[in-house]
Amino acid sequence: MFTFGNTVLPVSETLQPFAENSIPFYRFHLLGRFAELEHRVFTRLGGTSLPPFASLNVSYDTGDDALRVQENLHRIRNATECSSFIYARQSHSSNLVVLREYPHLDSRVDYPLHGKDGFFTQLPGLLMMIKVADCQAILLYDPAKRVAGIIHAGWRGSVKNIAGKAIQLMVSQFNCNPPDIIAGVGPSLGPCCSEFRNWKQDLPPTFSRFQVRANYFDFWGITEVQLTESGVPRKNIEIAGLCTKCHPEVFYSYRGEGKTGRFAVAVSIKDG
Ligand SMILES: [Zn+2]
Repeated sequence: MFTFGNTVLPVSETLQPFAENSIPFYRFHLLGRFAELEHRVFTRLGGTSLPPFASLNVSYDTGDDALRVQENLHRIRNATECSSFIYARQSHSSNLVVLREYPHLDSRVDYPLHGKDGFFTQLPGLLMMIKVADCQAILLYDPAKRVAGIIHAGWRGSVKNIAGKAIQLMVSQFNCNPPDIIAGVGPSLGPCCSEFRNWKQDLPPTFSRFQVRANYFDFWGITEVQLTESGVPRKNIEIAGLCTKCHPEVFYSYRGEGKTGRFAVAVSIKDG
């Protein structure tokens, strides 16, 4: 059993918890096999924010004290020892950014990247972060081409097939072969809690096969199919299998809590 303070971190078949520098996080088993890749699924634990944002909130847009968010971001950056750090004001788009040079951004200024929902790079030492509370952060890595990526997929992103677009981008921009790509789908709203009362208006008919009971849908399964239909082998896809709404002591859940924070999922290719 892995605990942080009085909190027990839930485990799954695909995720293993760690703690370094007093900040707990998870790693995926498959992605963790690559020594040149750093990836971390942070939680809400180990930060400075107060309720209802306690404690490792990484979003300035939730109503939290900006200085506490800034300190939380510093902790994440220090924990990963990356020279550059990038994230965006996400907007449920399918706009993806290829980073071929290091961004010259102060870590507080995310507005220049307004409206972006994913990053890809081959540059070492560049930490790319996605902020979530029920939405999926999807980590992608091609060890053959050494291309790392991370995307934000809420239900709107799923409707836009952002996962499939990310694989297409890795092929077109980096010449990746989809069978080489490894994917990790982070803690997010599970089929237990994905209620969509307006699903007939909001979701395409093709999602009906993922309906698990009246008004509930399996978005983990939707992402898995979008990735496999793009050529990523099923054996290369790890689903965290941890529902954010079912684990509010460890993860932020917008559905479960309303006014709350966002936790970080981040990836980088290591320096050297
Ligand atoms: Zn749940």
